[in-house]
Amino acid sequence: MGKLKKFMAHADMVKISCVDTTDIVENARKIHKLNPTPTAALGRVLTMGILMGTMSKGEKDKVTLQIIGDGNLGSILVTADSFGNVKGYVSHPLAEAEKKENGKLNVSGIIGNGELRVIKDIGIGEPYIGSVPLQTGEIAEDFTYYYAISEQIPTAIALGVLVNKDGSVKKAGGYIIQALPDTPDQILMLIENRIAESTSITDMLEEGKSLEEIATFISDDLNTYEVEERDVNWKCDCSKERMKRAICSMGKKDIEELAEDEQTQVECHFCNSKYVFSKEEILDMISE
Ligand SMILES: [Zn+2]
Repeated sequence: MGKLKKFMAHADMVKISCVDTTDIVENARKIHKLNPTPTAALGRVLTMGILMGTMSKGEKDKVTLQIIGDGNLGSILVTADSFGNVKGYVSHPLAEAEKKENGKLNVSGIIGNGELRVIKDIGIGEPYIGSVPLQTGEIAEDFTYYYAISEQIPTAIALGVLVNKDGSVKKAGGYIIQALPDTPDQILMLIENRIAESTSITDMLEEGKSLEEIATFISDDLNTYEVEERDVNWKCDCSKERMKRAICSMGKKDIEELAEDEQTQVECHFCNSKYVFSKEEILDMISE
């Protein structure tokens, strides 16, 4: 379980969401048996998923984030709901790249060039799909660019995953800070300077700083106050019924092919749960 808090600052002109996703990213690492650099890559996108999902207006809203790169990692897919539940996977969990000169995990090195896609599903009508070319492949910068292009709101994003020597997750978290369009430049400058002089989000968590302390520091406003607190979780909502619907959505010919086998096993990409359908069950789907 992770923790997310929302704050307001500068007389409600600036809003901040700050989240600790350490447990969630560690969970993802174990489920997908991720190498360190894919742990950092997926962890950053999972963290962004929670930040964006919990910013949705409607309870039924879902947001899906895709990073489609030409590097060894392949693509990343993350889905989050408005309650702070998130799930995700990468194409190649064992992808690796040499560390950067500063000793940091080389996330852009396994992502490469490509595209960032944001799919917002509000439960009715066609989902909204936005996409931008990847800027650095380091993910936080790519989402910052997405906001600049798609929403034209001054936005700063930090996402981080710190990995132990044994590959387990030491700290993971992130924040998004946004200012109303008419916020004075002076305030934007204060925040910009603070972000520039701050250590990384994972260093701040590692130093034992609370989400309040982090939000107050980056906003540079001692009157920053909390407006919401919620638990956030890794959660996959797959079930045999859902898998059945997925099979039913395939073409009739493909389903008939499955019926030739005594058993059909379907695996959930998000959590690796396996579901087994008997020949009879498949035949029933065809007749339905
Ligand atoms: Zn699942």
